[in-house]
Amino acid sequence: MFMESKVMSAHDEKTVVKIPAGKSREWNFHPELPIAMSPVFDIPPKPRAAFDWLIGTWLKLTPPVSHLLFALITVTFFLPAFSDMQGVSIDWMIQIAAIYFGAVILLGTILHLYLYVFAGQKTRQKFDVRPMEKSSRFTFGDQVWDNVFWTLVSAVVCLSGWSILYFFLASNGWVPTLNGFSASPVWFILFFFVLRFWQSFHFYWVHRLIHIPWLFKNVHHLHHRNVNVGPWSGLAMHPVESFCYFSSILIHFVLPSDPLHVIFHMYSLSLGALFSHAGFDKLFVKDKQAIKAGSFHHQLHHRYFECNYGSEEIPLDRWFGSFHDGTPEATKRIRARKKLIFAPK
Ligand SMILES: [Zn+2]
Ligand SMILES: [Zn+2]
Repeated sequence: MFMESKVMSAHDEKTVVKIPAGKSREWNFHPELPIAMSPVFDIPPKPRAAFDWLIGTWLKLTPPVSHLLFALITVTFFLPAFSDMQGVSIDWMIQIAAIYFGAVILLGTILHLYLYVFAGQKTRQKFDVRPMEKSSRFTFGDQVWDNVFWTLVSAVVCLSGWSILYFFLASNGWVPTLNGFSASPVWFILFFFVLRFWQSFHFYWVHRLIHIPWLFKNVHHLHHRNVNVGPWSGLAMHPVESFCYFSSILIHFVLPSDPLHVIFHMYSLSLGALFSHAGFDKLFVKDKQAIKAGSFHHQLHHRYFECNYGSEEIPLDRWFGSFHDGTPEATKRIRARKKLIFAPK
């Protein structure tokens, strides 16, 4: 039985029931419900809440902060010089691909080993208690090896391809670039915030597109075979989906960007997906919370399909009626919506 308290909803001023984080009939663990969405776009505006949300992302050890740290290390030590990337040479292209293969394999392996092989925090804050599957639905009959395979041969190849194209154009001066923090300090900082919203906006529309029944059946279904997810499920995508997903990089073809912005953005898309599909709300090391990991918002999408196409950063799902806030009432509403979408015409 849930402990319930009646509170005023910040969003629609109606009385809603808040359900504290914990266990339920459907979940081994869920965060406080209804799940929190960014207040940045709330009407009427809530400047204090919006400021707290934005700052809260950057002042704790969160996945975006870890992506920024990884990006800093990458740009400082591993990224080829622009002068090397002006020509068509296999050397620097392989170096770019090696950066992404290295980063994804490293993080995917660490998360999977810690959470699923050595069960470092057992089922603490694990959304769905079921283990990874062995089933003929998956390539090699094994969910984990299937997910590793599609991540490496589809997603990381597309991620590398888009990045190689970008760096070739940027180093030849064919797209606008920014030469470090001092060139434009305000834009340099502001662009990191813009990128978080852009990523969410782009993901929503690409994701909506591949939920069109024909594309779902032939493309996106590959990702959705994962009803319960683990870190390697995040990038287990059909090549068409991978190509569209990483086309988020196109913003750098138009707006002046420093390599740090680009690598941060690409890590947010790739490493961020490993975190968001981890299947655990937070990671604990020796009983201490280490980092916010999984996304219950997206876990709901994997279980109920026709909801939560976007992320928490822009409430597009709320605006277009596909938001599942995690509550039992929302489950009923989304199931009715799914029946309508798949009803014979
Ligand atoms: Zn989907
Ligand atoms: Zn997913």
